[in-house]
Amino acid sequence: MNLVFLGPPGAGKGTVAAIAKEALGVPHISTGDLFRENIKNETPLGKEVKEIMAKGELVPDDVTVKMVKERLRNPDCKNGYILDGFPRTIYQADELEKFSKVDYAVNFELDSETIVKRLSGRRICKSTGKIYHIVSNPPKVEGIDDETGEPLIQRDDDKEEAIKHRLEVYDKQTAPLIDYYKKRGLLFNIDASASPEASLKKIEKLAK
Ligand code: AMP
Repeated sequence: MNLVFLGPPGAGKGTVAAIAKEALGVPHISTGDLFRENIKNETPLGKEVKEIMAKGELVPDDVTVKMVKERLRNPDCKNGYILDGFPRTIYQADELEKFSKVDYAVNFELDSETIVKRLSGRRICKSTGKIYHIVSNPPKVEGIDDETGEPLIQRDDDKEEAIKHRLEVYDKQTAPLIDYYKKRGLLFNIDASASPEASLKKIEKLAK
């Protein structure tokens, strides 16, 4: 099943995708993670997108579409995929339609106050990408990843100024995708204030 996860930053798309990939047996493809990996490995793409991401801006469409198109060619996508954070513009959605057929766009709905709380408390393990929250999902030892023992970090774009900007970018460029997929009869709304497990149950029903 080919799924697109839509919704504002901080709505829990990445957290749900991380458990849904096991349940559905499809890869979790996060464009944000792919970019972060490139930054960590100091690739030419990483160098190109580093500043853009730190500011909370969107990476240019052509660069992003090319990366996703290549990733979907990977054999692990033969039974489907979860695209998390892509498409983020109407242009990207139009391009995606040209090379893959989306079965559902799962839209994670959440109010902006909760989004800011979630994002500002988010901490991640840089090497594994595992996501924590200082209040709702803390690590066993404060500031340390449970598995690797590495110090957790706060993403540059999870700092207050960048959060504000990312939400503005979301409203302007990404929110129109809700209508885009609704018109195509592919939209499936989820209350993102519920637990990741509750969201997963709803998504699993789609797969049946
Ligand atoms: P995320 O991890 O999904 O919150 O993405 C982090 C950042 O990566 C975004 O703020 C953008 O700078 C960049 N990014 C991720 N996905 C896309 C996309 N589909 N189009 C453009 N930029 C993206």
